[in-house]
Amino acid sequence: MKVHLNQIPPQGLHLSGEEDCPIHELTPEEICCAGPLHYDIDIGVADGGLWANGSLSQPVELRCVSCLQKFLYEIRVPAFAVHMELHGPEMVDLTPFVREDLLLNLPAHPHCDRDGGRVCKAKHIRTGEHEAKRKSDWSELDKLKL
Ligand SMILES: [Zn+2]
Repeated sequence: MKVHLNQIPPQGLHLSGEEDCPIHELTPEEICCAGPLHYDIDIGVADGGLWANGSLSQPVELRCVSCLQKFLYEIRVPAFAVHMELHGPEMVDLTPFVREDLLLNLPAHPHCDRDGGRVCKAKHIRTGEHEAKRKSDWSELDKLKL
């Protein structure tokens, strides 16, 4: 996400659209980009600094820590905010800030069922084992009755 300072009018600039996923150099085993980055930000120049704020969202594929299955997750950054000093280059690249905020909003221990739209297989198996155990408890009682 590069912005040329000459393109920013005094009243600021609104930018929204899509861009290539900025976190593709991460370990592909753990996090895969699943689509483009969506951004909706305002950007401006004031007092020799550049400010930007808005929101970001980035669909990614994560691996569930319980069942190890991959699942889709949307990283949301509702309050993306940057302020930087301007010295030198007229081209400003916001990508490092975007990447950092996306990574900060990644779940540390992703669970595929965290949004409730999916049942984690690992939990399902565990429930199954529990029920099987309960049944065997009953069969022990049956033996006692005999
Ligand atoms: Zn899972």
